[in-house]
Amino acid sequence: MAYIQFLGAAGTVTGSKHLINTVSDPNAANGFQALIDCGMFQGEKEWRERNWQDLPVPARNIDAVILTHAHLDHCGWIPRLVKEGFRGPIYATSATIDLCGIILRDSGHLQEEDAAFYNKKKASKHTPALPLYTEEEAQTCLQYFRPVQPEQPVQVCPEISFRFVPAAHILGSAMAEITCQTNGQARRLLFTGDIGRVRNQNVAPGKVVHSGPAEGEVADVLVMESTYGNRQHPTNDPRPELAALIQKTVQRGGSVVVPAFAVERTQKFLFMLKQLMESGQIPKAPVFCDSPMGIKAVEIFLKHSEEYSDETRRLISQYGSPLQWPGFTFASTGEESKKINDTNYPCIIISSSGMVTGGRIQHHLAQRLPDPKNTVIFIGFQAPGTRGFTIKSGAPQVKIFGQMVPIRAQIASLEQFSDHADPPELLEWLRTFPQKPGVTYLVHGEPAAASQLRDTITKDLGWNVQIAQWMQKVEIK
Ligand SMILES: [Zn+2]
Repeated sequence: MAYIQFLGAAGTVTGSKHLINTVSDPNAANGFQALIDCGMFQGEKEWRERNWQDLPVPARNIDAVILTHAHLDHCGWIPRLVKEGFRGPIYATSATIDLCGIILRDSGHLQEEDAAFYNKKKASKHTPALPLYTEEEAQTCLQYFRPVQPEQPVQVCPEISFRFVPAAHILGSAMAEITCQTNGQARRLLFTGDIGRVRNQNVAPGKVVHSGPAEGEVADVLVMESTYGNRQHPTNDPRPELAALIQKTVQRGGSVVVPAFAVERTQKFLFMLKQLMESGQIPKAPVFCDSPMGIKAVEIFLKHSEEYSDETRRLISQYGSPLQWPGFTFASTGEESKKINDTNYPCIIISSSGMVTGGRIQHHLAQRLPDPKNTVIFIGFQAPGTRGFTIKSGAPQVKIFGQMVPIRAQIASLEQFSDHADPPELLEWLRTFPQKPGVTYLVHGEPAAASQLRDTITKDLGWNVQIAQWMQKVEIK
């Protein structure tokens, strides 16, 4: 019996890894084994420790990886898989491959830095502390990537073929629609990866990729994300509020600091600022984009015009490359980054990491948080336990570089920037299915989000919905 086994993103939103095994006879040797996504666990220690555990299947016995998109929680374990002996093809869209080229190397670099930090402080119970993989090992794994066009059918082995369908989550993101031969019949499995927003520029502003997943999907088995299963996004346009925050801050002589993910979120936000400046809604204060990965990502975005929505195409033809905009400075070296600290006049600083867990944003916040003239605007999800979460939740101080920094700056957050569909948007999509899937498994959600979404889909559509459990094996029927 062919089966799916959930090796990650079950009971949590990270570590996406779903194994398909085509084995037809449980007593026979293993069948073809493919992983859908190979993500890293992030967040609480309980989850992170799973990055160090072996898979139930040796890496060398996995034959292929089909990758939905370039977020670390979907691709970040690939270098480890290769390190442990995987040598098969990794199928992804060409934009995903380009983004993995910067994201995985950066991830390896950060892990080397962390290991070095723990060794210096002797803070790890493992001596010496080791990186999960190095930057060089991340670079090595890139040779296994194989570009696949959206909608192009790929025969992976006699029993499995697949095609990518756009997911509109981030640049290059796709769902994997897999046809699997089992028990003499073809079954269609749809792995959604992460699902983008509906088609509405006001609700999902500044999207670089077109909004909303493909309609009219058919699936015998649906494996769907549930990140926002118990929350709804605000439906108002964030631009008036953003403009007011920037205006007021600049008027009182303060600066605006925006922690943002380097890939996609930073680029969208830059275009939004440009639009607001050109239409006279905010003053033309100097903008500093302080993220080396953010700069590389701008180049990748400009290259992949096949991903643009009409709106994005219009914005880029109107304004050109952000790297050329007057008044917008991109800091790539550490020296350029430090110079921003000397800026005493009002400016707008966008830097990463988005949840202030590391990176150059720490310097900017350490310097600007104590001054009530400044404003910090969050435009992304802040996970519990991160500095971003502490700052956003109204704490009087936050520890940065081992020092307590008082928080006197104005703190604001705009929740409209999510790249994940919420329940009404998911249901809108599910209603386009011509028939019910035989079974739907919910993954990639905290337990409360997954169970609320299960109840909503069961009640509204009458579907058979189950919540995937970590390590659970389910037969493909
Ligand atoms: Zn994602």
